[in-house]
Amino acid sequence: QREAARRAFDGTGRTADGTRVELLANVADPAGAQAATEANAEGVGLFRTEFCFLGRGNEPAVSEQVAAYRRVLASFPGRKVVVRTLDAGADKPLPFVTSDGEPNPALGVRGLRTAVRRPAVLDRQLQAIATAAAAENADVWVMAPMVSTAAEAREFVAACAGHGLRTAGVMIEVPAAALRSASVFEHAAFGSLGTNDLVQYTMAADRMLGDLATLSTPWQPAVLDLVRATCTGAAVHGRPVGVCGEAAADATLAPVLVGLGVRSLSMTPRALADVAAVLARVDLDECRHLADLALAADDPVAARSAVRDAIRPVL
Ligand code: PEP
Ligand code: MG
Repeated sequence: QREAARRAFDGTGRTADGTRVELLANVADPAGAQAATEANAEGVGLFRTEFCFLGRGNEPAVSEQVAAYRRVLASFPGRKVVVRTLDAGADKPLPFVTSDGEPNPALGVRGLRTAVRRPAVLDRQLQAIATAAAAENADVWVMAPMVSTAAEAREFVAACAGHGLRTAGVMIEVPAAALRSASVFEHAAFGSLGTNDLVQYTMAADRMLGDLATLSTPWQPAVLDLVRATCTGAAVHGRPVGVCGEAAADATLAPVLVGLGVRSLSMTPRALADVAAVLARVDLDECRHLADLALAADDPVAARSAVRDAIRPVL
């Protein structure tokens, strides 16, 4: 693995038998876009747009948003950039969108849910994304955070279509959406598993609490079950599924995710070389076998060590 870390990512993710696995970067601002291109990311699998909104008393004007989004899109001509709409609430409160005093903010009005009371904020953001997309030639996809139901997916896709944004998808980070994946993907063009929140909501374990670290891991068999359920439901409609949570940066977990049906991984740019090196050494059938090993384990420690033992020769 040390040897892998020294090698750079060549810009095309694939398994040993040539199955394509897009390796993308998570980007939160223009500086992050720069780091992503330097690491040869194929594109951006999660563009967190909160940087444009956080720490201010009121909503940025559409023109300001357009300028901010263009600064990121300009780094990826001809490349895929998945723009996530505002994920306010819970750990990211915003005075002009979320309300104070919710007893349980992680379970409150956050992510796409804020659009029920403040539809115009989402509408203006989609307008800004569409304008920025038209001005740059990145391949812009749009997705909503915290989608829980097929109806929410349908409404979001319709709102995107109203702005000419045709590739609209959803984050899968609520267990309900994973369990009803086939219905959600009737509407959504693609899915991106937000494993940070999916782990939190599956295990009922606050993602900010270090004390719960043994529960809060994507190696939990229950979480892997939901990854599989998501991919199975998406396959019914031929929709691609990626992972954009921290799990995507775990080089040992990457082949398991591919074996479960995931075909893109979006991560911090510095993890790209390691993940690419492991994937290049296993073929798709081995990935499926590793996924079965992980799912057969009773707990995350056993799952991880079964997979590690099986791929040790290639690590
Ligand atoms: C996630 O929940 O995994 C995710 C990628 O979104 P965030 O960490 O921004 O909530
Ligand atoms: Mg999330």
